[in-house]
Amino acid sequence: MRQDSLAAEDPLVDLFLDLARIPSPTGHERSVVDFLTTRLRGLGLEVEEGEALYPESGSSAGNLYCRLAGSVPGIPIMLSAHSDTVPYEDEALPDPVFEDGVLRSRSRSVLGADDKAALAAIVYALEQVIHNSLPQAGIELLLTVGEEGGLRGAKISNVESMAAECGFCLDSTGPVGGVIVRSPWQKTVSAEFIGKSAHAGVVPEEGRNAVAAAARAVAAMKLGRLDDETTANIGVIKGGEAANVVPDRCAILGEARSHNQDKLEKQVSAMIEAINLAAAGEEVDVELKVVDEFHGFDFSQGGLPIDLAERAFKRAGIETRRTSTGGGSDVNVFNLMGLDCVNLATGMEKVHTPDEYISAESLHQMNAFILALVEVARA
Ligand SMILES: [Zn+2]
Repeated sequence: MRQDSLAAEDPLVDLFLDLARIPSPTGHERSVVDFLTTRLRGLGLEVEEGEALYPESGSSAGNLYCRLAGSVPGIPIMLSAHSDTVPYEDEALPDPVFEDGVLRSRSRSVLGADDKAALAAIVYALEQVIHNSLPQAGIELLLTVGEEGGLRGAKISNVESMAAECGFCLDSTGPVGGVIVRSPWQKTVSAEFIGKSAHAGVVPEEGRNAVAAAARAVAAMKLGRLDDETTANIGVIKGGEAANVVPDRCAILGEARSHNQDKLEKQVSAMIEAINLAAAGEEVDVELKVVDEFHGFDFSQGGLPIDLAERAFKRAGIETRRTSTGGGSDVNVFNLMGLDCVNLATGMEKVHTPDEYISAESLHQMNAFILALVEVARA
């Protein structure tokens, strides 16, 4: 039977639709954070909001933190998801629809299942825990803002002061049951070559060509997939003004990632060396910047969050599998801050595009997983 958008008659799907209808691109999370706060306070929970991340935006909000004290001994856990989405194409507003068991957007906007599917599953599970007085060993929620803007909410979060012994971020693509055990370390590399401009036809010898230096640097770099755990890329090159001017400025922007920190250091050093040699060769100056974009993690040998997640999936009757990712998310930041966290697949697909979708079944599987997790965390 075809089910239509407004009356899903499924409280979890309804909750997701409510969340998905509220626009919340990074920096404009105010309305969705208010919605979540009201819903959590309605459960009798205390909710704290951190400092607004983009105060200049006018609709900014902060991370939400909320704790349910444990009623039985066991392992206190943290559940996390982010409330922002990527920006909407052509500023189209979200128009979520539920058809044939699948949630998608009718507009050019993303659906926002990344990461509102996780928000819905977490909040709904918490409602079930409270309404049914399910015994639990302590549950903390950390619902971040600014994830899509460079994990900025996570970076100012308070995970160090949380009671949780481990955490679960629900923020990866792929079928529910996917446990992301490895994520790479990443650094960005940027360089601005500064030469000297001159008329290219009249006095080229007086010029110092910044574009030639950048080209030489990029040509000397090993890029692409360097081995099974390391990648590198130059994604931006910008410089010059006219065909008849020796260009005095050219900037390049790139990155390197590896699951192995030594390999990452080696690759970044090689990129820096290529940049410096090229600058020297073209007799231009160079300003270099290397930024630690995110720290990786590796739970491929196991660990508390992996153990609990796999036991919970088993209990919920959901097939589980370990995977690794080439990307970063809030979970990288939490691990760096000292809370062992694992990222989990939520069933969302084609994220960051207007074709994004998720099935109601995935929402229910996530919900079942969280309830099973609460059970296995009990002593
Ligand atoms: Zn996400």
